[in-house]
Amino acid sequence: MPGHSQEQDRLRVSEIFYSLQGEARMVGWPTVFIRLTGCPLRCVYCDTRHAFQGGEWMSCADILERTAAFHPHYVTVTGGEPLAQKNCLILLQRLCDAGYAVSLETSGALDIAAVDPQVSIVMDLKTPSSGEESKNRYLNIAELKQSDQIKFVLGGREDYDWARLKLDEYALPQRCEVLFSPVQGDLSATDLADWILDERLPVRMQIQLHKLLWGDEKGR
Ligand code: SF4
Repeated sequence: MPGHSQEQDRLRVSEIFYSLQGEARMVGWPTVFIRLTGCPLRCVYCDTRHAFQGGEWMSCADILERTAAFHPHYVTVTGGEPLAQKNCLILLQRLCDAGYAVSLETSGALDIAAVDPQVSIVMDLKTPSSGEESKNRYLNIAELKQSDQIKFVLGGREDYDWARLKLDEYALPQRCEVLFSPVQGDLSATDLADWILDERLPVRMQIQLHKLLWGDEKGR
């Protein structure tokens, strides 16, 4: 029977797997992904709908044990929306304490203020074509550190123009690195690259490495 502390720090986990990081600053590094179950958003392009429900209850200790078995340097906590489970904050802290380089992928809809400062946050600002623009919690921008990143997933020129306005409105490039990423199948990566270069935008373009390597599968 699980002990009291295990009950208190458990989380619903969709999957734990080992692959190459496909995006953001740690792109290309072998990484353990801890995908937590559940998300209050429904972005039209979501490719992790399988994480909306189901999963398995695990204590932080069990998650750490499964993570350690891969002997990683990098660990990413993702979802779904990981912060939808309040114990995510405890898990992030324990992963940092265990010595891993930890990143968190979050939708930008929930408060990030209590995330352990050792964690590198990759926070979306949801664009109009996601259908979830109204969920953006703009107060989060003030909480971002230099080592964090803001990500725009762009479905077309309208999204791009909207993102450009947000860059100026919130002085985002002065705050942290900004990522522009095309929605595969909706926006040509070449078009996006040309727009960024034409306008000298201070952003970093990225294409999801894992999709180039393995299509919609998460890894090999
Ligand atoms: S926030 Fe992420 S997991 Fe949630 S619906 Fe949007 S893309 Fe999917």
